[in-house]
Amino acid sequence: MTTPSSPGGEGYRAVHRRSLEDPAAFWSAEARLIHWNSPWEQVCDYSNPPFVKWFPGGTTNLCFNAVDRHLAAWADHPALITISTETNETVTLTFRELYQRVNAMAAVLRAHGVTKGDRVLIYLPNIAEGPVAMLACVRIGAIHSVVFGGFAAPSLATRIDDCQPKLIISADAGMRGGKIISYKPLLDEAIRLAKFPPKCVLLLSRGLDPAMNYVRGRDIDLRVELARHDGAEVPIEWVDATHPSYILYTSGTTGTPKGIVRDTGGSAVALMHTMQTIYPGKAGEPYFCTSDIGWQVGHSYGVYGTLMQGMTSILYEGLPIRPDAGIWWKIVQDYRAVMMFSSPTAIRVLRRQDPAFLKKYDTSSLRYLYLAGEPLDVPTSEWIESALNVPVIDNYWQTETGWPILAGFPGSGKLERKLGSPGLPCAGYDLTLIGDESGPVTEENGERKGVLAIRPPLPPGCFPTLWQDDARFLETYFKERDANGKMVYTTFDWATMDEAGFVTILGRTDDIINVAGHRLGTREIEEALSAHPAVAECAVVGVKDEIKGQAVFACVVIKAGEQPEGEAAKAALIDGLKREVDTRLGAIARPNAIHFLTALPKTRSGKILRRGIRALAEGRDPGDLSTLEDGGALDQVRAAV
Ligand code: AMP
Repeated sequence: MTTPSSPGGEGYRAVHRRSLEDPAAFWSAEARLIHWNSPWEQVCDYSNPPFVKWFPGGTTNLCFNAVDRHLAAWADHPALITISTETNETVTLTFRELYQRVNAMAAVLRAHGVTKGDRVLIYLPNIAEGPVAMLACVRIGAIHSVVFGGFAAPSLATRIDDCQPKLIISADAGMRGGKIISYKPLLDEAIRLAKFPPKCVLLLSRGLDPAMNYVRGRDIDLRVELARHDGAEVPIEWVDATHPSYILYTSGTTGTPKGIVRDTGGSAVALMHTMQTIYPGKAGEPYFCTSDIGWQVGHSYGVYGTLMQGMTSILYEGLPIRPDAGIWWKIVQDYRAVMMFSSPTAIRVLRRQDPAFLKKYDTSSLRYLYLAGEPLDVPTSEWIESALNVPVIDNYWQTETGWPILAGFPGSGKLERKLGSPGLPCAGYDLTLIGDESGPVTEENGERKGVLAIRPPLPPGCFPTLWQDDARFLETYFKERDANGKMVYTTFDWATMDEAGFVTILGRTDDIINVAGHRLGTREIEEALSAHPAVAECAVVGVKDEIKGQAVFACVVIKAGEQPEGEAAKAALIDGLKREVDTRLGAIARPNAIHFLTALPKTRSGKILRRGIRALAEGRDPGDLSTLEDGGALDQVRAAV
């Protein structure tokens, strides 16, 4: 199909330009990539800035586009493969089987009174029932909210109270690194804490927690219900393009979690646009996404984008290093995956392992590796690119946007890349830089530095608002103005933009370090430290300093086999690391303190918890740690300061 996004070799810059010059023409042509039940009345209703409605009046359905639409050509082809190295179970569902499972699940939801607009909270591990439940919800117009399985009870309770689900779908347990994490006690406690408890909980027993209890009158065995509705066919609920398809909570550093709302039509169009341009895969080809469905990447490229394109989505439950560090490459080999999506953090974990694991398997089916979620440092990018011998495509986005803001575009002619940068703006994103309280936009050697902002309207697929909180949407994201006094959306990321248009992300604005009046991105110092051959990964924060304002505090994880033996070797390594920073950035950026840890504190979605490190380094309480993956790493920081 020819649309403006596949222009026959003129390159993505022209695509991007056209998307800004005439958004209505551009997006209405892109909208042909999905199935509509009835046409829209308007491409873009921007009568109430910065609120925007894409394709109002048009009706469609995400489940129809992801499943039903492929039955004619791909019914017997795998749609979803879930692999668990925790339970050693692999489930393969063809498009027909996925259709049947989704229909049975939709029938169960219906039987329990779920109708269009009702919220359903999904608290499951990364197993097939997750995508099945998500698709069943959107099939009947219900709004799902997936909460990462195993999230702490108080965090789950705040999400329950915010979206007030009619029903929760959960399981007895998840597993991580061979350890069983019982979900039911967490869920029971969350429901006890919640002011708006659901009337019904559907529970899947995986046989991991034989002690799972069922609360009488509330908890129901999901398997029994599914068996009862086996073979059911539930008609598609055609919904307006602006109808919310899901809510996904993002924690942020302060306050209650923000309920990111996703619409239906705009989101489907945006994802299909990316499946032609950023992730160009053909129907029938396998796409391996290592993200959990509890995160945005899992929603967009573990479920919706991939399936809408008719590709086979491969999902994974387990660690990247178990049973050994070759497991992901074995999956690529066994399933002939053509694309893989992961995070820089995961690749840095693999980089600390024996490189022989990368050579053990035949990964020649792979065309591209996509990484997102954190700045991708140059040494990691170069290491994995040469090991796999495929282009590594960094892409930058936020839960808020639902799809990349910056990326490389192998599907649109020449792939333009710049090391260290996630690339060029995606269609519809009109990017600019703004100043903040730490200072104005600066310019040096043709490179501008400031806070990355987007001129509204945000393109299709981005969040239209926060769940039932338009005021917070405005106050949080749209309070900044550009140089002309016009309202902009702020990403809260500090960035540089070069003359060729490449943007490099330097870190969150809260993480910017101000040493003796010089603004430094944590990323810049981390990049300098990572250049040292002994460094596997590192995290840098600014801590209060009476003389300089802030001082640089670094936590460094050393590669296996490079550990310094004895105090003299340790001092020499610290000197070497400081020298690396001096030569690359100057003495102003030199860390005052460098601590060696065996692991960095990270969130469950793989982001370094700089906020927690900074608090401990300044002797403060690290605050909400509900998203922390491994408390041991933070204990090491505590011990080091
Ligand atoms: P989340 O909404 O939790 O996915 O977090 C979004 C934030 O992650 C962004 O605002 C960035 O700070 C960071 N981020 C995501 N992708 C990238 C990337 N490719 N490079 C640098 N930072 C990234």
